[in-house]
This record gives sequence, structure tokens and C-alpha cells, in this order.
Amino acid sequence: MSIQSINPATEEVLQTFEPYTPRQIDDALHEASTTFRGWRKTTFSERREHFHHLARYLRDNKSRLARIATLEMGKPLVEAEAEVEKCALNCDFYAERAEEFLASQKLPSNATTSYATFQPLGVILALMPWNFPYWQVFRFAAPTLMAGNTAVLKHASNVSQVALEIERMFEASGFPKGVLRTVLVPGAETEALIKDSRIAAVTLTGSEAAGRKVAAISGSVLKKNVLELGGSDAYIVLSDADIDAAAQTAVQARNQNNGQSCIAAKRFIVIDDVYDKFLTKFVQNTARLRIGNPLERDVNIGPLARGDLREGLERQVQESIRHGASLALGGRRVGKQGYFYEPTILADVTPDMTVFKEETFGPVAAVIRARDTAHAIELANNSIYGLSSNLWTRNIEQAQRLVAQIEAGAAFINGMTASTPSLPFGGVKHSGYGRELSHFGIQEFVNIQTVWIG
Ligand code: NAP
Repeated sequence: MSIQSINPATEEVLQTFEPYTPRQIDDALHEASTTFRGWRKTTFSERREHFHHLARYLRDNKSRLARIATLEMGKPLVEAEAEVEKCALNCDFYAERAEEFLASQKLPSNATTSYATFQPLGVILALMPWNFPYWQVFRFAAPTLMAGNTAVLKHASNVSQVALEIERMFEASGFPKGVLRTVLVPGAETEALIKDSRIAAVTLTGSEAAGRKVAAISGSVLKKNVLELGGSDAYIVLSDADIDAAAQTAVQARNQNNGQSCIAAKRFIVIDDVYDKFLTKFVQNTARLRIGNPLERDVNIGPLARGDLREGLERQVQESIRHGASLALGGRRVGKQGYFYEPTILADVTPDMTVFKEETFGPVAAVIRARDTAHAIELANNSIYGLSSNLWTRNIEQAQRLVAQIEAGAAFINGMTASTPSLPFGGVKHSGYGRELSHFGIQEFVNIQTVWIG
């Protein structure tokens, strides 16, 4: 079946691609593995130059690249531009810091000298999602390639134009051909790719369902894998919080990227005595968001990326209303064309409801009433996911004690979760394992080699 790139704002087919033939896939794997032999021997300063060039390319082509993403997956253009900038920042960050992060470390032992070095592993297969179509790839690629690996990218099928742009920009920035190769393959047909002996390890950013499959296949051939999966982050508002600030930040925390972010706040857990005040302000602020053509600069909410995703979100909302959630805002499709859905707030949500139990990947907020602080933490942990979390309170000391009880890969106090090159990123529970970004991220795809000298 051919792969289609569809504009989710108009439902127009932009381009159609044929999945790569076995021969094309073989060529890409061959090129990535032969390029690895030379690339691993390059110095950090040579790689640094390449990544600084790539950062310049991203900045010089920002408008064009952002437009492609907006047309293919519907995010507001302004956010797509910021995403391209962030990729450039990550290239510069690892260009400057990789050598320090991977410097050999002297370690005490019974040897005359002993130390650990960090050697590249080989070709890393990256299975990537459409929601931040540039950033997810660069979050993986900058550290992994700076460490001396090469990569094969299998991007989400609905962002094949972006996938090919990424491959092109590495070549255009002077990297040896084959440092990063794109293959167009449907997700369900990646088993042979994962098992191919030229692939050393696998990283997936995507859904829990894909995570289970990729982990099982990788496990069957004993290949290391990193999984960055879904989330249903808690956004806890305690009685002493700055409610105005919490209700303002909540809007962006839930609705950025049309609500399609793994680290979006999804379950708003509010202590009983400030619940009504928070809900009223959250609804008022969310109602101000402007829905429309994502190419227009003052639009905050574009369409969902695919029709099936909107149907899934509608099912989650309707099931929750049937179980007693009250609709405080939104809850309907918008317009006749495009996969638009109103920013939606469901109040009186309880743990047995779909929007509490499942990840909601779109502009739908679930607001939950907590009796007290202990109950709020219990509700936050009542999830199969554990990606990030948010806690609002004026008592920072208490907050630091409380976040240690939250089962999540990150805790943002009095702010919304955002990834940044210098801080580790990743989850626990069904949100996956492994870390990206910072010095932790660059150590995922290396052989930590012990050297012992007698
Ligand atoms: P997805 O359907 O799991 O797809 C992700 C990638 O995996 C795509 O390239 C997809 O290819 C591929 N894939 C799908 N099924 C597969 C299978 N059985 N075997 C191997 N590969 C498979 O996820 P999505 O809809 O693109 O992204 C949304 C999900 O990603 C959400 O759950 C979100 O929370 C999560 N996410 C997590 C993070 C994080 O950092 N933790 C970041 C962003 C998104 P096809 O498109 O060809 O099917």
C-alpha cells in the first residue's frame, strides 16, 4: 500500500510515496554500515563542525522546513518554527559538549591504570513519531551521531516529506553520505529491519502499543532498545498554589502542539478547596484559544494530525461523559473539512473513566478533585504511565519532598514540562525506559568499554 502525506487541515493528499523495496532498504543499510567504519574514526572536532553546519542549515531554512511540518501534521506554524530552532540548539549543544560527556573516565581498581571509554555501537535504527517531526529525530540524532554512530531513520508514515528533508539536510550540511539514511516503511513491517544484523540497536519514540512490539522483536535478537512512549502526566494544584498562574500555564501545558504532546499535562488534579476557582479560570483561559488554519500566525490550535486520531479522542470523551464526567468546555468537531476538534475540558473526572485511564492525545483536559495532598499524590500515581509531572504550590520545600513520591521521569514545580538539551528526558512504567538529552542521553548508544592495565 502506498504511503500518503495528507494535509490534516484540508484533507488534501499532498504527496504519495511508495514504500521502499527490499533492495532500497538494503542499500540504505549497506550505506549506513559502511559509512560507520569511517565515521567512527572521525575526531570530535570534525563531527562538531558538521553539526554546527547542520544547525546553520536548520536556521537558514527555518521557514520552509516549518511550513512542511505544518502542512503535513497540522501544528501551528509558529510552533513549527520554534521546533526547528530547538533542533539547531540541540545540534550546537552536542557539538560543543559531546567530547566532554564521552571523555574517558579513570576508575580505581587493582590495576596500575584502569579506565572506561565510550565507543560507538554502529548503526542505530530510529523509529520516530509525527508529533514533533523534526525535534524527536534531532533529540536522538545529535547525541547518537556525535558519539560516532550512524543512523537509519524510519519516520512515522504521515510525515514522509519531513523524513526525506531530514536525510537531505545531513547531506547538504556536508556529512558523509550514509551518516543518516531515511527509509520509507510502514510501522507494521519493521520486523526485518530491527532484526537485520547491520542494525546494532533500536530507539522508538511512539505509542505504548508500538513499544511492546519493538521491545519484543529487539529482545528476540538481543538488541538494546530505548523506548520513549506515551504519558498521562499529572498537573497537581495544591491549596496554597498561585491559582491564576496555574490556570494560565495549564492552557499551554495541555494544548501546545494541538494537544498532541507526550509530556502534555493531561490529568489536572486539584485540591477540593481551590477546585472551583481553578476550573473556572482554566475554562475561561482555554476558551480564548483561536482554532483555525495552522499556517496563520495567530492561530493557537490547528487540526489533529489524522482522522483516526480524532475519532479515538471523541470516543474517549464520550465514554467519560457517559460515566459521569461533566463537559465544562468544547467536546465537538469544528468545521466540515479537516480534523479539527475544540479544546475540551472535562470536570468531575474519576479514576474509572477513560480520560483518566488512557492517554488522551489531543486538546482534552481531565480535571479531577482531590481530598488533600496525599490523595492528590495517590491519584497522580494511579496511572500506567510515568513520563513527567507538574506540581503547583508556594511551599518549595514541601514540593521537593512530594515530588520524590511521584512515579514519573520528571517533576516540574510551578511550571510546565518542557524538554531542553541539558536535562535528561524519559519515563518510567509504561512510558518506557532509557533517557535522551544531557550526558545521560549520549551514553545510551555507546559501548562503555573497561580498560585494565596490569
Ligand atoms: P506510533 O503509532 O506508535 O508510531 C510511532 C512510530 O512507530 C512510527 O514511525 C510508526 O510507523 C512506528 N510503528 C507503529 N507501529 C509499529 C510497530 N508495530 N512496530 C514498529 N514500529 C511501529 O505513535 P504516534 O501516533 O506516531 O505518536 C504518538 C505516541 O507517541 C503517543 O503515545 C505519544 O505519547 C508518544 N510520544 C512519546 C514521546 C516521548 O518522548 N516519550 C514523544 C512523542 C510522542 P507508522 O507511522 O508507519 O505506523
